[in-house]
Amino acid sequence: MKEIILIKLGEIVLKGLNRKNFEDKLLRTLRRRLGRIGSFKIRAAQSTIFVEPMDEDIDMDEVSDLVSKVFGIAAFARACVAEKELDKIKLAAVEYLKETMEDAKTFKVEAKRSDKKFPFNSPQICTEVGGYLLEKYPHLSVDVHNPDVIVTVEIRDFAAYVRAGLIRGAGGIPVGTGGKACVLISGGIDSPVASYMMAKRGLELMAVHFASPPYTSQRAEEKVIELLERVARYSGRLKLYIVPFTKIQEQIREKCKEDYFTIIMRRFMMEISQSIAMDKGAQALITGESLGQVASQTIGAIGCTDAVCNMPVFRPLIGMDKEEIIEISRKIDTFDISIQPYEDCCTVFTPKHPRTRPVPEKVADEQNRIEDSAALIAEAIQNVRVLDIHGYSD
Ligand code: ATP
Ligand code: MG
Repeated sequence: MKEIILIKLGEIVLKGLNRKNFEDKLLRTLRRRLGRIGSFKIRAAQSTIFVEPMDEDIDMDEVSDLVSKVFGIAAFARACVAEKELDKIKLAAVEYLKETMEDAKTFKVEAKRSDKKFPFNSPQICTEVGGYLLEKYPHLSVDVHNPDVIVTVEIRDFAAYVRAGLIRGAGGIPVGTGGKACVLISGGIDSPVASYMMAKRGLELMAVHFASPPYTSQRAEEKVIELLERVARYSGRLKLYIVPFTKIQEQIREKCKEDYFTIIMRRFMMEISQSIAMDKGAQALITGESLGQVASQTIGAIGCTDAVCNMPVFRPLIGMDKEEIIEISRKIDTFDISIQPYEDCCTVFTPKHPRTRPVPEKVADEQNRIEDSAALIAEAIQNVRVLDIHGYSD
């Protein structure tokens, strides 16, 4: 029995004239991601996308998992394909929904007939299919108000489709329809979640990571790569720029007052990220900051870091509690990687008493003790390493 996936479009349908763009992007994304596991016919019609496997041995669980991570999809369903004859539809329903019906106590049938030439109307389809299911699964009863299972029969142009229920999609907007932004990624819990959240709003991602060997290890870098691979399952492939940060951090330690270390370091990070982002066509930065979480994330500290930025900085976690952030990190499978203990450059040279109420002018004065910062920044950018990150390694 042939199984396909029916995809219901999300917010895309609201987008008026842009709708075609969004739909095309979504189709291209599905073709690219599913192309990895086999050959498919993927087409859009009547605000539904049909994903039809063309190889015998395609694992539909895997297809379903990949589809569930594509932004722009409100809901989808696995369905079986039947010829447009009532008897065949009835047989298909009984066979395809066997396990679901055996597990259920109550059900109802809904019919959607977009092919008006089909000789039975929707109520007739419901009665016929419902009656046959009751006959074959006598433990069931019909409950039109609160059924365990809703069986849906869709009569479309080329075939009929039978399914039970809808699976919730990833929501959001197709990646790449909203422009491109650069995430500052660390090995922590927060920045992978921030990346996921902004990709969900349609942004294509690029990422910058600051590494300070020998204070930070090779393993810390691998951890960041692993985290981004998880993010890429949602956002699609992206580039990671690894910036050598040791010299700058050592200069800060040598020249600046200890209580300003973190904030000055963060200003360097923003400036360098912004420069790389601009060069690669990104229009905003993304960080995993959450207000008040640590000393460098107070309103004053954020003001001091923003003072060196002239592109928007998106902080999707700004109003979230740690618990809420962790919940998302578990959902996107980054949590277990994030909690592995490897040093981040933020945790080397941390001041004992960081400034929680820094004033931008004072910070700038302190930072100016490093005379050749423009040259330091240029050197760091020149020595950036680029990596290609994919959601799945095979
Ligand atoms: P995270 O969980 O993302 O590490 P955090 O709560 O540990 O965040 P900080 O370490 O203060 O907070 O970092 C705040 C933000 O700065 C991070 O969310 C990230 O966007 C950015 N950041 C921190 N360290 C790095 C780094 N080594 N490279 C790139 N960006 C970084
Ligand atoms: Mg961190």
